[in-house]
Amino acid sequence: MRGVQPRYTGLDLTASMIERCRKRFAERSTEGSARFVIGDALTWQPDAQFDYVIASGIFGYHAKDTRDRIRPTLERLFGIAGAGLAVNFLSGCAPTRSPGRLYVHPADVLQYALHVQEPSLGAIAAATKAGPLVTDLASPPIAARPAPAEHPPAARYKDRTVLAIGAHPDDLELAIGGTLAKLQKSGARVVMAVISIPGDYQTRRREAEEAAAILGCELRILVDGGVTRRIEDMKTYELVSLLDGVVKELQPAAVLTHGPSEIHRDHVLVYNAAVSTQRLRYFDFLSYHPSFCRPVAVQFHPRAYVDVSDTIEAKMAAIAAHRSQFCNRGLPIDIYRDIARMNGRMIGAQYAEGLDVSRILVA
Ligand SMILES: [Zn+2]
Repeated sequence: MRGVQPRYTGLDLTASMIERCRKRFAERSTEGSARFVIGDALTWQPDAQFDYVIASGIFGYHAKDTRDRIRPTLERLFGIAGAGLAVNFLSGCAPTRSPGRLYVHPADVLQYALHVQEPSLGAIAAATKAGPLVTDLASPPIAARPAPAEHPPAARYKDRTVLAIGAHPDDLELAIGGTLAKLQKSGARVVMAVISIPGDYQTRRREAEEAAAILGCELRILVDGGVTRRIEDMKTYELVSLLDGVVKELQPAAVLTHGPSEIHRDHVLVYNAAVSTQRLRYFDFLSYHPSFCRPVAVQFHPRAYVDVSDTIEAKMAAIAAHRSQFCNRGLPIDIYRDIARMNGRMIGAQYAEGLDVSRILVA
């Protein structure tokens, strides 16, 4: 670290490793001070408080008890880190695996990070303070932020119901995961209505439930009962009456759904059916970014934005929860962070989600 003279303590289980460190540091270092100690991160009694704790590779070997040691060890390290804790794992999404190593799903780590210290999304701030489990080093400085509105727009739906409609599990998370988490945190009841599960019912249902829980939203599978059904197999009137039913029941203040330009044609069918439900009552009607697993350019012009800087990690964790669609197929999910970053640049925020406006009551 250039210009910094840290007081450094190195801890390792094995005497031979500590011996090597002592030798190398004595040969090379001209800055700061270092000491090296033999010990176990879970039980070691430190004699000082540390600003930063960096735990590298400590969960890499798959010993019998490694998995059980992760949480208590992290809790202990959080306790002795005043400013930050960084920890790494071998990724459960790695294309190849070595025997004897422990691989952890990124979604599980993210979920842990989001819920560390308290079991709510309110812990995001605490997790961020506690350490960069997720880093965003690539982000350039943000332009000047607009002055906060007297009544933040997110409070527009406080104590009211927001109905988000997606064709399949994962569509809502990809497009508006950050928005939904933010509206929920701002006091709205947020219902994620998924039309149907097109295949692999048990797995995808479980993933959808996990993702909705991460975002703090209610999940409804509209064509349910353990069956998989394709939207193209439904008559138009069936689809409209399905959405009519949920609009009548929930009386939403806003409906967010697919837009008319989508690579997936069944997404367009859902948009068309949602358009029809506007005859039932007034609600703000908004469309979200076309959702896709494999990136394809589709026409979309956001006309409204939601600053999701404080819920982006929840969004990414909710997307990662859909393992069968991304991780297990080797598909990366960083493009959704990139899209949010680009939309954020448009409004002077770190991350945002874009919406198209079909109908909105301005005042
Ligand atoms: Zn879909």
